Amino acid sequence: AAAANRSKDRADRATVEQVLDPRTRMVLFKMLNRGVFSEINGVVSTGKEANVYHASAGPSGGCEMAIKVYKTAILVFRDRDRYVVGDSRFQRYCKSNPRKMVKMWAEKEMRNLARLNSAGIPSPKPVQLRMHVLVMEFLGENGVAAPRLKDAGLPPPRMRQAYTEMLIMLRTLYQKCRLVHADLSEYNVLVHNNELYCIDVSQAVELDHPRAFDFLREDCQHVNDFFRRAGVATLSVRELFDFTVDPSFGTEGPALEAELDRLMEVAVSRPAATAEQEVADAVFAKAYIPKKLEDVMNYERDHARLTSGTDTEGIYYQALAGMKADMSGARVQQEVSSGKKKGGN
Ligand code: ADP
Ligand code: MG
Repeated sequence: AAAANRSKDRADRATVEQVLDPRTRMVLFKMLNRGVFSEINGVVSTGKEANVYHASAGPSGGCEMAIKVYKTAILVFRDRDRYVVGDSRFQRYCKSNPRKMVKMWAEKEMRNLARLNSAGIPSPKPVQLRMHVLVMEFLGENGVAAPRLKDAGLPPPRMRQAYTEMLIMLRTLYQKCRLVHADLSEYNVLVHNNELYCIDVSQAVELDHPRAFDFLREDCQHVNDFFRRAGVATLSVRELFDFTVDPSFGTEGPALEAELDRLMEVAVSRPAATAEQEVADAVFAKAYIPKKLEDVMNYERDHARLTSGTDTEGIYYQALAGMKADMSGARVQQEVSSGKKKGGN
């Protein structure tokens, strides 16, 4: 009984900075009792949709964990409909029951984290899920969370390399995890052990989500905006989008490296942020990208326009379909001269 009381005290400690509801306290209390962790040390982050706490386990508390507690506030989760409507995994989504909803968000985050992990994208490893409480690997050291990309203060050469790593992260998410993050930005990437870690994936959607391409385009935009402001020569939003979805090269190896080299050469040789570039990005931001072949209204006409070379505006699905830019045929894998390795790993 004394031990149980001690556990209860520790569960109470987490409430000092932020009041926890009885259900959350019960989940944390049970986890403490089962030894998932032995201490809850305090708040890492309080957000609109979730709070994150630091916990430790092991004899000297040397094993650190992050506990993400999803909030049950109904108003917050109403905003999130756009991510759920249309996701085949969440058809049972129940708007009228906020407790079921938060439980589902936590479950979605855990499943998505598992996918990222198995695709080799640096991200926290999920440890345990109970209701709306997700325990995962803590990114950071001695109770100090790894900084967000926004706050990491990377020096310019490292920042350029980080941009390339972000491109690969976007592409791997899409090609291997079959997910679009849908909230990817400098806020949801942590710099841990000098590597970019992807976090906050509860809203990530499957590729068959009706708005998947809209979310992907927004992700590309946010990533580009951050790196451009940081002084990195970036691709256009469309180039980044096409790089992400193009099925004609892999997610690693010489073909990918060759494509990255080609794109970064284009980016570097382009004068910084021309008006033309901004207009192209703005037009692409509003463009309709067909999801399915049936959605392509008139393939023959598009092909004729693209091959005439004069009237090519507004046709956005070539890379998605694995076609050359003028749709004269399939893209072929880039020819690769040598096993030249890009900087960074
Ligand atoms: P939200 O943005 O919905 O509040 P996040 O998953 O982005 O939730 O987490 C909020 C903040 O908590 C992050 O910006 C990060 O600082 C911190 N955080 C989240 N997960 C971890 C983790 N596994 N390790 C360390 N810090 C984390
Ligand atoms: Mg976040």
